[in-house]
Amino acid sequence: MRLQEEHLALSSGMGLAGLAVSNFWDYSSEAFSVFKDEIIASVLKPTPMTAIHHYLYFFQDIEEELDKIYKNVDNLQWTYDFIVRTLDGVNMKTDFPEPDFEGCSDKYHSDCECKRIVEQLIEFVEENQDEIDKKIVHSAFQFVFQDRQFLHDFHLQLAGFIEENIGEIAEKYPDFVTPRGRIKRAYFPKWLTEAVFHRDKGTCSNPECRCDLSHLIRRINIKHIDHIVPLNLFGTNDASNFQLLCETCNTQKGDRSTMTGSVNTPWWNLD
Ligand SMILES: [Zn+2]
Ligand SMILES: [Zn+2]
Repeated sequence: MRLQEEHLALSSGMGLAGLAVSNFWDYSSEAFSVFKDEIIASVLKPTPMTAIHHYLYFFQDIEEELDKIYKNVDNLQWTYDFIVRTLDGVNMKTDFPEPDFEGCSDKYHSDCECKRIVEQLIEFVEENQDEIDKKIVHSAFQFVFQDRQFLHDFHLQLAGFIEENIGEIAEKYPDFVTPRGRIKRAYFPKWLTEAVFHRDKGTCSNPECRCDLSHLIRRINIKHIDHIVPLNLFGTNDASNFQLLCETCNTQKGDRSTMTGSVNTPWWNLD
């Protein structure tokens, strides 16, 4: 199936990604327990909604965010601008008129046309909050997924959570757990192998190796999709727990190492 192009709410997504990544060490356990069932269901085999998505949801609530701005910021135009930017980002069109904040005779906009328009917009956001949150989470994921080092840390934490709950997982999903109490190996769907290959730019993720696996020039290196945190160490088949390695590095890594690296190709170098 062909990959579809989409409008991505990159600015909102970047903000959410930053918030979620910088709060990871303080909030991951709480987020894992809040979204326990969803996370477990998403990590048994690769699915488009990953454990990272659920973790991002822990920080995303457009209704709450808007409510805070509306109640605490004594400037109606800020609320209006925030809504317009958010809706633009998620590509949602409305046909509400633009409020005339400057020309309004009510200096505090307490009972005027501007206020009515903003309130209608707030209502529109509330009605569409699930869709807006989903789009912002989807966009934030595009950033987080690029950071193999963060994915490594995330999946190492998640492994602790899986180990704690493996009995319960085995009871609920017996087909997905090995007799030794580990998540079973799963089949990699094509959308995932392609995403990992492109994210890692067709290059082995081992910072010591970085060999080319694109097969454009040489076809001698064999590409492998590797679990960043191995199943043996209570890693999972979550779609965000994979990286591209060459066959040699994958074989050397084995099932006890969580080796990854933050060596990447920048757009350009500074010096
Ligand atoms: Zn007004
Ligand atoms: Zn390699």
